[in-house]
Amino acid sequence: MSVVALVPAAGRGERLGSGLPKAFVPICGEPLLRHAVRGIVRSGCVDLVVVAAPAADLGTASAVLAEFGDAVRVVGGGATRTASVRLALDAVQELDAGPDVVLVHDAARAFTPAAVFQAVVRAVRAGAGAVIPVLPLVDTVKRVDDAGRVLDTVDRATLRSVQTPQGFAPDVLRRAHAAGGDLTDDAGLVEALGLPVLAVPGDPLAFKVTTPFDLVLAEGVLRAGVAAP
Ligand code: C5P
Repeated sequence: MSVVALVPAAGRGERLGSGLPKAFVPICGEPLLRHAVRGIVRSGCVDLVVVAAPAADLGTASAVLAEFGDAVRVVGGGATRTASVRLALDAVQELDAGPDVVLVHDAARAFTPAAVFQAVVRAVRAGAGAVIPVLPLVDTVKRVDDAGRVLDTVDRATLRSVQTPQGFAPDVLRRAHAAGGDLTDDAGLVEALGLPVLAVPGDPLAFKVTTPFDLVLAEGVLRAGVAAP
């Protein structure tokens, strides 16, 4: 019984505007990717991490992750997030002993607490084929057209924003990716197959570092000791 975490980390990070691939943007002096992998390793429930890094920067990614030794493998990512996950999944298929749980976790959610990883793994082991951490929406939600006209107000009671790690029984994730498609998360591919997806509570600290504001937030939570360094 083992858990493999696939980490799509091949994004260009254009919305951060730092000129570096997002994985290498420093947060309190250390690259985002190192923070992310450290969080996964510290969760204590993952045996192997497969990182899909920018294809042109495999050497840099390996150097950034050197402290984790054999617990981490680095493969080249693809043109989209889905392609990057698929390439990491292909690398797992080459391993001898198959895992019983596969997690997919955005490198950009570098400060995700250990308890979220543990809860997702637990839910897969309890029999769910696909598990996602979610948060309720706090803002009022409206649909707006291209001209900025408000079309309607959406009832937010049943809406959730979706985080990672997302957890899967390996055969479910393989079938979902084999079916093709390109979505912003892996559970969406499972839904497209008509298979059930279970939601469990997420955590605000699993926020995705996307904009310059998120960098300020990330440095703030690290400095305040809210997230482990
Ligand atoms: O762009 P976005 O922030 O939604 O990306 C989510 C995650 O997917 C990030 O960790 C990013 O590095 C990763 N990604 C990837 N390959 C791409 C695009 C994004 O691994 N081609």
